[in-house]
Amino acid sequence: MSNIVAIVGRPNVGKSTLFNRLTETRKAIVDDMSGVTRDRHYGKAEWLGREFIVIDTGGYVANSEDVFETAIREQVMIAIEEASVIIFMVDVTTGVTDLEDDVANILRRSKKPVFVVANKVDNTKLVHESAVFYSFGLGEVYNLSSMTGSGTGELLDDIIAKFEPDAEDTTSDLPKFAIVGRPNVGKSSIINAFLGHDRNIVTPIAGTTRDSIHIHYKQFGHEFMLIDTAGLRKKTKVKENIEFYSVMRTIKALEEADVCILMVDATAGIESQDINIFHLAEKNRKGIVLLINKWDLIAKDHKTMKQFEEAIKQKIAPFTDVPIVFTSVTEKQRIFKAIEVAQEVYTNKTKKIPTSKLNDVMLEVIEHYPPPSTKGKHIKIKYITQLPGSAPTFAFFCNLPQYIKEPYKRYLENKLRENFDFTGVPVTIYFRQK
Ligand code: GDP
Ligand code: GDP
Repeated sequence: MSNIVAIVGRPNVGKSTLFNRLTETRKAIVDDMSGVTRDRHYGKAEWLGREFIVIDTGGYVANSEDVFETAIREQVMIAIEEASVIIFMVDVTTGVTDLEDDVANILRRSKKPVFVVANKVDNTKLVHESAVFYSFGLGEVYNLSSMTGSGTGELLDDIIAKFEPDAEDTTSDLPKFAIVGRPNVGKSSIINAFLGHDRNIVTPIAGTTRDSIHIHYKQFGHEFMLIDTAGLRKKTKVKENIEFYSVMRTIKALEEADVCILMVDATAGIESQDINIFHLAEKNRKGIVLLINKWDLIAKDHKTMKQFEEAIKQKIAPFTDVPIVFTSVTEKQRIFKAIEVAQEVYTNKTKKIPTSKLNDVMLEVIEHYPPPSTKGKHIKIKYITQLPGSAPTFAFFCNLPQYIKEPYKRYLENKLRENFDFTGVPVTIYFRQK
């Protein structure tokens, strides 16, 4: 189960500045794939080897004070429900506002770990000013300058100490498919379609986690767990902040899943929020299947599917080796096809290529087109192994790993895909010194 840190607070206190700082740090460490646009509101961060998700809740409210008052209360409620840790950010240069007193009251009644962070403490003269925030009754006040980064270390040390231990998921060894997508794309409908097909052999296993419903599906030789993100929505009081809520839900489901079935509304086309979910799945090295749903509502001729596919691939590039299934849940078109494809992606994700076969094929590919020499240095790749892990990862052992450039890496990835079929699965390549 992933740990989520939600940053709440009024506009302009510095939430997005901190968010950027936390997620950039990771970017520098992990070296994300090139060409991947980072989402502005949620992303991965890492501190002392603990990975977590950061959410800038400010991204989900209109930035005008009157709308904000209601929205922030609601958001704080959602954050209390869904996040592991809450950063309540305030601005040392403005002191305490009424709204912040209200928020503090809500937070105090929750059982969530809350960190009061006084931001914009850019110099030592401001340190004593932050004492006013002790009036929230939420314990220690952390002094921070999101701008310079001073104070982040101490804050993060204490935050990760509140995380749940990274427990191995023991719910089942079956493949786990998460149905994700923006509100209204048809997630509940497709789950109902699966459930309705034969209720006797489908068992909802509630309580496997508090946050999502796991449904055990066993039929026609297929057996897997479905993780439903939509199912619990009606239980909460949340009305305005559906998008924020669904993002929280999606992130959690995605972390648990092996394959992410990303549903898109064909009538709306693929939008930035869909792309964000896609990239989050990609970065987490989950298998991906795209469902273009409500296909019944699209006026089409023999070229429409092809055109849709091309438009989608442009938007999800560079990782375009992803299956796309055009579905209509209401007309029961291709919904079981979607499951079959998800199974195939799972197979691709978990396959292990025998080392001898890998070397036979790839050394020939390399011989045919070797890495271009850099600075007069001849680069020789000697052998390849697939590393153990939950997503395909390959180590190419060579004399000068630092000289191999991105285009050549992409070439190798494409050749791995051509020869071994990793459709729907992010592939990672490392170059190692030998
Ligand atoms: P948000 O609305 O809470 O996300 O706030 P932003 O991150 O957009 O920051 C609002 C303004 O405060 C911007 O002009 C930032 O440059 C500035 N700011 C953020 N952090 C700091 C800080 O630590 N010190 C100072 N002096 N300004 C900051
Ligand atoms: P969720 O918010 O993603 O769970 O979406 P729902 O399953 O609640 O669906 C939202 C609306 O879209 C409902 O009115 C569904 O009946 C409708 N819907 C779902 N799938 C399809 C489809 O394939 N075709 C059409 N025409 N409507 C659909």
